[in-house]
This record gives sequence, C-alpha cells and structure tokens, in this order.
Amino acid sequence: MMICLSIKAKTAATAAKYVKNAVRTDLIELRLDYIKDINANKLERILKSTKRELIITDRKERMDLLIRSIELGADYIDIDIFAGTKKINKLIAAKCKTKTKLIVSYHDFEKTDKKELNTKYSRIKKLKPDIIKMAALANSIEDNIIMFDLIKKAEKECHKIIALCMGEKGEVSRILSPLLGSEITYGSIKHGLESAPGQVPVEVLKNTYRIDKLKNPDIFGLVGNPVKHSKGIYLHNDRFRKLKKNCIYLNFCADDIGKFIIDFRQLISGLSVTIPFKKDIIEYLDKTEETAHITDAVNTVIKKGGKLIGYNTDIAGAVKAIKEKTSIENKKVLLVGAGGAASAIAYGIVKEKGKLTIINRTEKKARYLAGKLGCKAADFSGISNLKDIDIVINGTSVGMWPDIKKTPVPKNVLKKIKGKRCTVFDTVYNPEMTKLLQDAKTLGCELVYGKKMFEYQARLQQDLFSKV
Ligand code: NAP
Repeated sequence: MMICLSIKAKTAATAAKYVKNAVRTDLIELRLDYIKDINANKLERILKSTKRELIITDRKERMDLLIRSIELGADYIDIDIFAGTKKINKLIAAKCKTKTKLIVSYHDFEKTDKKELNTKYSRIKKLKPDIIKMAALANSIEDNIIMFDLIKKAEKECHKIIALCMGEKGEVSRILSPLLGSEITYGSIKHGLESAPGQVPVEVLKNTYRIDKLKNPDIFGLVGNPVKHSKGIYLHNDRFRKLKKNCIYLNFCADDIGKFIIDFRQLISGLSVTIPFKKDIIEYLDKTEETAHITDAVNTVIKKGGKLIGYNTDIAGAVKAIKEKTSIENKKVLLVGAGGAASAIAYGIVKEKGKLTIINRTEKKARYLAGKLGCKAADFSGISNLKDIDIVINGTSVGMWPDIKKTPVPKNVLKKIKGKRCTVFDTVYNPEMTKLLQDAKTLGCELVYGKKMFEYQARLQQDLFSKV
C-alpha cells in the first residue's frame, strides 16, 4: 500500500513548488489537466527537479505529454479507459522496456454501480495494465462496500487494483481501501486543494489515521448522521496509537442504520453510535447489555464471537461529569430531551436518587421514559412553572453546530426556574460553550460541559474496544 500526494495546481510554476515542498509520501501524482500552461518543456523541468516517485495523470489524455513522461522516466502514468484502446495500446508500446508502469482507470462521477464497475473492470483487465484503477462517486455509505468487494475480487485474480469511492460518502474508502488491499490511496496537500472529490489531506491519513503504520487493523468507528462534528476520530485513534494497538477509528455517515449494519457487520469490530441511531440500532444487534436494555439506547457496539452486543457508556460518563460539580442525591433535576443521550442521563439520575422531571418536544416520549424510570414528566409549555431546580440538563441536540444561537431553555425561563446554586449541564459539545451555558454563566450557575461527558464515555468505550 502506498500513499500518494495528489497535486492540483493552476500553473507549472506552482506545481513545481508543490513538488519541491511536498510532505513525505510514497508517491506524488501530478495532475497535468489542472495545469493551464503545461507543455513538454515545463513538464521536463518538473520531472527533472525531483527524485520522488511520480504518477503522471492527464485527464485530457494528451498523448504527447504522456509519452514524453515515459521518456523522462516517470514511474507511473495513468490513462482513463475512455481514452480508447488505440491510445492505451500506444502507451503500452511506449512504456515497454522502460521502468514506467501503466495505470488504466475508470471513473464514474455520478454513482457507484456494481454491474457497471464489474464490466469496466473486466474490460480494463483485458488490456493487461500494471494496475487497474476504479473510482466512483458514493451516494451512500454502503457504496464503499462495492469497492471493497472489487478489491477482494482483484486479489483473488492476482491483479493489482486501486479502488475507491469519491465524494463525502466515499471518504471511508480513501482510508480503508489501502488497508484492505488497494495499491494506492490519494491524499491532498490540504483541505481545498483536493484533485478529486472526497480526498483526505495526506497529513490526516498519516497523522490521524496512521494508515501507513497499520496492517489488517480492527476497524472501529462512529455511526450516525451527521458525524463530521465529532472529535472521536482524534480521541480514539490517538488512544490506539498510545496503546500501540493495530486499530483504526473513522466516521461512518449512514442514512439507514439497518442497511449499514447488514453491509458493514463483517468489516467492523466495534462502533460508537450517535444521532439519530441510538434507539434504532437495537433491533439489528444480537444482544444488549443491561444498561442499554433499560435505557433503550445504545452508544457502543462491540463484536464478540461474530455477535454484535450493545452497551451504553453515556450513563456513567454523564454521571461522572455532573458529580465533579455537584452531588445528585435528593436534588431537583430538570432534563430536556427524551432521545438516546437523554434516556441514558435520566437512568443515571434516577440511579443516583435525583428527583427528576423530564420534558421533551414530543411529550409522549417524555411520559414514556418517565413511566419506565418512575420519575415525573411535564409538558414543554409548562417549563416555567417549575421552581428551584438544582440541576438543568440539555439532553437534546438544540444549540449544536451549526444552530449555535439556539437554546432549549430561554434565559428568562432559566432565571425563573433555577435554584440558588443551580448547575447547568449541556450534553452538546460542539460548540463547547453553548448558548445555554453562556446564559447560565451570566446567571452565576455552575457549568458542566458536554466535552467532559464525551471524554468520560469515550474512555469507557475505549476499554470495551480494547477487549475485542
Ligand atoms: P436523539 O436520540 O436523536 O434525540 C434527540 C433529542 O433532541 C430528542 O429528545 C428530540 O426531541 C430533541 N430535539 C431535536 N431537535 C429538537 C428541536 N429542534 N427542539 C426541541 N427538541 C429537539 O439524539 P441523541 O443521541 O440523544 O443526542 C442528543 C444530543 O446529545 C446531541 O447534541 C449529541 O451531540 C449530544 N450527546 C452528547 C454526548 C456527550 O458525550 N457529550 C453523548 C451523546 C450525545 P423529539 O423526541 O421531539 O424528536
């Protein structure tokens, strides 16, 4: 597996500068089609300026430039199947007896179509290139599995392949494909300089995911929608690095949790689960541990003996974060929300003997949860009738980025209901200082940050992941 830094530059001078200053990678890809003033002389100057291994790609498929690249000793040239057999055979003849390897590629910028990909794979295979490259736009997270299957097929047939999905939903393949047998993964210089949609910066591939350090790793990740805001990839990958574990953690942005579990259960060793799947995931698991069962919410899944088991580490994480600032026993607690995180917190509060009232936008959910735990529920509009609350908790996603000006409890209401030494806890951790916490601060409340709960529940998750 090799990491390739793909260079997208408007001028030959900028491209030359990028090549000169390129971070350490196995390969550099020069995209000639982006360089407006490229010609044979400028190309020669760039190629002669570096000893680094190069892939020369020209999506305009200009034969003079590609053949010149071979003459100048380029390590790889990449040509699209749509250039036609005549051009490809010409390149095969030109590279014969040189060190240059030929990549013949197929791109679909609209979809990942299994049948179409297999047809094109067979067509390219017949041309006998050194490497077959397949790239297609992912419209769902499950499309990545089609690429992973293609890698397996090529491996069985002893063909070298580069297989990846493009676009945001294909990011997963840019990280995992090379670990599953794809020859090369392409990374960008930085965000904004991607030469193809969904490329991850090389620094992130190397420093966050450490893909160059791992071999057949156990795969973990966060499944939810959205997931981009999550800090989990830094926290978990860093912990795996410190513990010298051959494990990787990435974001899975799914649309349908059922489809995701069916397609990914073979591949993954464990999961963190977030909005909106904490409840919905349960029916696809083989077992849930007691806390997850009672709260009807799973935030952690591990695979043991092929069986998927659901846990809930939010409970202990939230209780620990609150207890750093205040005791819970006999305190009047108001919890807003009745989703996954809120259910876990409610269970924790009741266990710690807090006097809990739950309110939620969908009132019947609050009543159902309160009924299950033996605490009170109130309707949303009645919130300002509550008095002398000791602990206010936001267990909803209100106030989360990008809607950072929103709060589930308006400041005037918070002022009315809070007791003297009120503690306000917001489970939202992006942003760290939410509107609710800002208001609470101005009212002199003690603050509990969602970040703390996140860190504590993630540590417990890590302990579970380590046991896989
Ligand atoms: P969830 O299961 O989808 O529940 C979402 C909750 O938010 C429901 O109670 C929902 O009410 C409510 N809600 C959503 N939009 C609302 C709106 N516009 N107005 C009023 N209520 C609204 O999600 P979750 O997994 O529990 O996550 C909830 C929040 O907790 C997220 O911000 C998440 O980032 C945070 N969280 C933090 C941690 C941490 O470690 N700090 C851990 C887990 C979760 P309805 O029932 O009416 O839909």
